[in-house]
This record gives sequence, C-alpha cells and structure tokens, in this order.
Amino acid sequence: MKAIVLLIGLMAVCNFSVAQEATISSPNEAVKVKIHLEEGRPAYSVLYNNEVVLEKSSLGLKTNISDYSEALNFEGSRTTSVEKSYESKKLKDSEINYKARELSATFTNQKGQKIDIIFWVSNNDIAFRYHLHKYSDTIAHVVTKEFTGFKFPETAKSFLTPQSKSMVGFQRTKPSYEEGYYLDQDINKASAHNMGFTFPGLFKTEDHWVLLSETGVDGTYVASHLSDPDEEGEYTIAFPDSTENNDFGSTGAAISLPFSTPWRTITLGETLKPIVETTIPFDVVEPLYEASQDYDFGRGVWSWIMWQDASMNYDDQVTYIDFAAEMGYEYILIDALWDQNIGYDRMEELIDYAKSKNVDVFLWYNSNGVANDAPMTPRHKMHRAITRKKEMKWLQENGVKGLKVDFMGGDKQETIQLYEDIMSDANDHGLMMIFHGATLPRGWEIMYPNFISTEAVLASENLMFSQHANDQEARSAAIHSFIRNTVGSMDYGGTVLNERYNRNNDGGNVRRTSDAFQLATAVLFQTPVQFFALTPNNLEDAPEFAIDFMKNVPTTWDETIFIDGYPGEYSVIARRHKKQWYIAGINASEEPRKLSFSLPQMEGTDFRIINDTRKGKSDKKEINRKNGKFEVTIQPQGGFVITN
Ligand code: CA
Repeated sequence: MKAIVLLIGLMAVCNFSVAQEATISSPNEAVKVKIHLEEGRPAYSVLYNNEVVLEKSSLGLKTNISDYSEALNFEGSRTTSVEKSYESKKLKDSEINYKARELSATFTNQKGQKIDIIFWVSNNDIAFRYHLHKYSDTIAHVVTKEFTGFKFPETAKSFLTPQSKSMVGFQRTKPSYEEGYYLDQDINKASAHNMGFTFPGLFKTEDHWVLLSETGVDGTYVASHLSDPDEEGEYTIAFPDSTENNDFGSTGAAISLPFSTPWRTITLGETLKPIVETTIPFDVVEPLYEASQDYDFGRGVWSWIMWQDASMNYDDQVTYIDFAAEMGYEYILIDALWDQNIGYDRMEELIDYAKSKNVDVFLWYNSNGVANDAPMTPRHKMHRAITRKKEMKWLQENGVKGLKVDFMGGDKQETIQLYEDIMSDANDHGLMMIFHGATLPRGWEIMYPNFISTEAVLASENLMFSQHANDQEARSAAIHSFIRNTVGSMDYGGTVLNERYNRNNDGGNVRRTSDAFQLATAVLFQTPVQFFALTPNNLEDAPEFAIDFMKNVPTTWDETIFIDGYPGEYSVIARRHKKQWYIAGINASEEPRKLSFSLPQMEGTDFRIINDTRKGKSDKKEINRKNGKFEVTIQPQGGFVITN
C-alpha cells in the first residue's frame, strides 16, 4: 500500500460565530450537514439536494468522568477544506482523490470541558468523529456511552444483518459476524436477537440510498455497531455487548485525552452507485506503520473447502500445490490441523516443495486464547506476544507469506488490540494477515499495510455445511457488493466449479448456480488475495473457458464502476485491472433479467462474454461490436462476465 498525502489544506477559516448552529456543504453543494444544540444536547441533520436524508439525530458521548452529551454550550465553529490523494493496490480503485469540506463545531460542558464534533463532507460521503480536549491532569477516561444517532424518515427501509448472541454457535465462537440479511424491512423493526445490527447498514428513503459504517477503529477504541431503533425510530452507536468474550472485559473504550474517536461514515446518493463505489473507509485514515516490504497480492486455492479436514496431509497438499501451479496461482492456503497431520518438520519440506513450484504458502491458526472453546490446532500461538513472536520467527525463517487466523471473538477493545498486535508483529515478520470468524475491517486495508481481509460474511464454508446456503447462494451473493464488501475486503473463499460439495464431485450438497455465476463472483467479491474454491478435478470436469477465465482473473483493481443492481436481487459491476475490463453480473431472482447498459470506457474494443443458456448451461462467445453498449440476459441463479 502506498498512501501519499499530497495536501491537507486550509481553505477558508470562518471566525468562531455565536450562532447556536453551524452548517457545511459538500464541494458540489449536494450534501448539507447542520449541527445544532437542542436544549443543550448536540444534534445534526443531513440533506441531499435539499431533501431530508437524516432528521435531527443525536450526538455526544459520556466518559466515566465527563459528560459531553447534555447541558452543553455551543462555543462556535470553523470550516476548512481537506484534499488528499493516495494509492493502494488493495482497494476497488488504485488511485483515489478525496476532496471534502470540514466543519468543526466546539462545545463545552458545565465544567468547561471541551469537545469538538468534526464533520468531513464530500460529494457522496460524510465522515464524522469527536475530539476530546485535555482539560486537566485527569487524562485517563473510559468512554462508557455514545449518543451518536441516525434518524431516518419513518418511511425508510432497512437492509441489515443482526448482531449475534455471544458465546453460542460452534464451540461458543460467536459473534463471528456471519448472520443473514433482512432486506427491505420496516425502519422500526428490531433485530432478530434484540442486540442491534452489524456494520455496515444499508437504508433506503423514498429517494435516497444511505450506507452507515465506521472506520479508523484501532486498538485505542472498541468496534461498535448499530442499536435496535428506539421508539422514535432512531438508531444509535452501540458498544460491544458485555456477553462477548465470555462476559470478560469492559464494553467501553479506555482512552487518554486528548483523544479523537473513530470516524462514523454516511454514504449517500440517489442511486446505489455512490454506495458501491465509495472509498470513504480508506479516505479518512492513515497507515499506522510502514510496510516492512512490498506485499504481493494474488490468487490461491485451499483444499479445506471441498476436501475438508482429512486433506490436511502432506500428499493432498502436494496435489493442491501442483494444482495451484497449473493454474498459475501465487498461493496455497493450508488450513486447520496442519501442525498435527503434517507437523512442523514436514511443513518445512512442504513449503520448500511449494517454492519449487513458484507457489507461496498461507497457514491457518486458531486465535484462541480464552474467548471460545474452538479445538482446532495450531492454537494458543497467536493470542500472546511471547508465543506469537516465536511462531512468527519460524514462519518467516521458512518463507511463509501469510496467515489466516480464525475465531477472533467480539468487538471489545481487548480484541481490537489483539487484531492490531497480531498485524503489527506479522508485519515485522513479512506476513500478510487474513482473519476468519472475525469482525468487519474498519479502514484496516490502509491502516495496517500487511492486512488483507476478514471474513465477516456467511462465506463459502456454509455452501459445504448446508444445502439451504446453496439454495440461497444467489440471493446472498447479490447483497455483498452493496453492503459488506463495499466498505472492506471480504475473504469469501468462493468460485466453485464442482457441481457437488464433496471430494469426488459426486455427493454432498448440490450447487444451484451456474458456472458463469461462479466466475462472476470472482470479480464481484473483492479482496487482494483470493483463495478460490476450485479443486484439481476441475481441470478435467469444468469447461475449458471457465478454467481459462480463472487462470487470468486478477484480484487487484484499478477502477470499479457500478452498473446496475438491487440488494438481494441482482448485481452488476465493472472493474478494471490495468487495461483489462471485467463486467460481472449475477441474478438471484426467479425470472431471467434483461439488461441494457453501456461502458463508454470499452468503446473501440471487441469483447468476450461468458453467459448462460436458458437451461442454465454456461457458454462463451466472441462479440465483434465496439460501441461500448451491451445487452445481456442473466438467467435465474445465473451470471455473466464480459472482458475486452
Ligand atoms: Ca467462518
């Protein structure tokens, strides 16, 4: 990751004014934010093209020592402008220019203690946070509650996934942020377990789409989520539930003044385009340390998804390494139990064998620790600096390139600190990091240079576990580009070309989606290192065009453009890698969906399309039409990919 801050400039500084409110608009004037005091309580509202998107919504927070939520005085405000350019190979776009206007409003409480509420407003995004000033020698505080709210008009609809109960599910590993989505729900509807909703959350008012999330969350705070709506329909920032981590550890955030909280983000517009294309989680954060080296991103395979635990043995991994080499892939992921079934000594041989085939290795680890009971090994290596550094020394000496650490537990500050500590140590040892059974990444692609992705989604493992997940696969896949994956890289582990979910492709769950659908997800689902669910037999039993496509598909992107879609129904996105465009679409509805769209950037080139017949069989065609206009029919549970 390269982040180059070209300019954070000061444009206009207004004098502190005495009015009880302050407003700011985006550079194009479309987005307006107003901050004001309502009987001593701070609040804000948001307009888009002068229409209400968020009604008066609460602001403020409380620490164990100070109250910044009521009886406040408005001291004044000032505006500046923010401009920033940065580059990254990990995101949906590789070169990003961010322009915003800043409004910083200052309030004091009855004891004269000062808080700034800071909004950065760009053309389709709002990021805001609190800054608590140091006011005496009392600098150690615990933030116990935030009042930050989001109040939509009462006709709005929600597209949300509920927070899980804690210490339930497989070996008491939840929350793992892997729940299903409820789409087009009434705005006042509470979550399935009355525990609020996981970020990000998508909302639709009569004329606007709005995505709420947060970014810049590191070990100095907790990761938060949305509460259930109150009687007025207002959602507020909720801290981790006390029951997380076996009911151990605080739900608040221990801070030291002066302190700036993480950013809460609101992405908004009249269509889903700004939602799919937003880069706000990355725009407002900075790297927390330098990359120890250039990390190489790429493609890989993993035997666990189809061959399961039994395949974590030397011979099966050799088969998968040969398969990765045949595909031209850079990586293999060796999953749980490798330490027992292969062992450390033979693993060194296996890594050497992989290197001889130009394939590098990612290894799986159990995170725990004390947060759950998950028995898979290697365990108790990653949760403590002493064991972790010793393990990482061995990993580095043997040329391992990355880790997948599973079962991370909840969002309490101690867990966020654990993520940060693992990533920082991993960077010292040249290791890239993927987390499973883990929370949403919140700006981590930029903040931690060796961070790749987290799962935080009902991922491909569920296709192996249940037929229901296969029956629902198209619907789930048609959600992620609008919600989960738009704010952070997503380790889904997908693209299945087996028809059945077992080792011989002749039993187990049945895949309902077409080959073209599966290829499309390789483009729709974004993360800079992708482990695909392909298997060695696919070289023989999958269509040649599908294997060719998978040999060439990249995992890093220079540009991403929303084409069309609706959450849970269909999703069409164009991505560019260097000069190569990929337009990918899937259809989850019962009926074929006929689409016409254009991508002017593809004018002047022939294109190839992989699409389905009416019977769901995928095929490839060359089209010699160069006007950048396309007409495509996507079959139910089918998909397409267009390339130039
Ligand atoms: Ca999982």
